[in-house]
Amino acid sequence: MRIFDPHIHMTSRTTDDYEAMYAAGVRAVVEPSFWLGQPRTSPASFFDYFDTLLGWEPFRASQYGIAHHCTLALNPKEANDPRCTPVLDALPRYLVKDSVVAVGEIGYDSMTPAEDTALAAQLQLAADHGLPALVHTPHRDKLAGLHRTVAVIRESDLPPERVLLDHLNETTVKAATDSGCWLGFSVYPDTKMDEDRMVAVIKDHGTEKVLVNSAADWGKSDPLKTRKVGDALLAAGFTEDDVDQVLWRNPVAFYGLSGRLRLDVTDAPEPLHEGNSILRGGE
Ligand SMILES: [Zn+2]
Repeated sequence: MRIFDPHIHMTSRTTDDYEAMYAAGVRAVVEPSFWLGQPRTSPASFFDYFDTLLGWEPFRASQYGIAHHCTLALNPKEANDPRCTPVLDALPRYLVKDSVVAVGEIGYDSMTPAEDTALAAQLQLAADHGLPALVHTPHRDKLAGLHRTVAVIRESDLPPERVLLDHLNETTVKAATDSGCWLGFSVYPDTKMDEDRMVAVIKDHGTEKVLVNSAADWGKSDPLKTRKVGDALLAAGFTEDDVDQVLWRNPVAFYGLSGRLRLDVTDAPEPLHEGNSILRGGE
């Protein structure tokens, strides 16, 4: 089983995770920039983080045979902090980098006016840079949040077929499908979707435009959830071709819209800092 995890925060994960992911079949990941848990107090913190996602993390992934790309953005939560919003002005110089395959993750957290501004501005940046967008849907008040998100996408210059709506569930899948966007499902140990619910959604909806991710990060999460969904689909009677569509071909097709996917790990970039021989630690 070949697996592309289209949403995982490897910066928060260990080398044991990389080894286990490779053993489970993961050969490619996309790491969206997101909230670090600890609020950032200046744009410079974002820029160092973006450089990590562009240089260090793809280099680290390549040591374990995994191709790594990223999506960059000002995340929805920190879009509310005026200390962070100048990141929007600096994003264009990062979005031209080779391993950036989308603008993201953007969307709504608490649905504030500041989030409206950041979402609309970053959909425009995606359109201007020929990139698709990874748009997460809010965890609270999901259906209202989805409708408002889709309304902003419709007003933007970015067509829905270049948008991936993420963190969907049974309550939002119908409206998301009707929007014409791609459909992302995050499978978590406790919250969001689990394997059995994911199988039920795919039974109902089919495999078209469906992407499954672990969204593993610094919270309780499991970087092998993609594989577990693949196994659950096979156990439920889906074919290996169905599983390959969901876990490989759909993410390749979506992020391939950027024109920048390189799935051969020998193409991985070198880390951006000096001393490329450094494989571990801060020496
Ligand atoms: Zn995320």
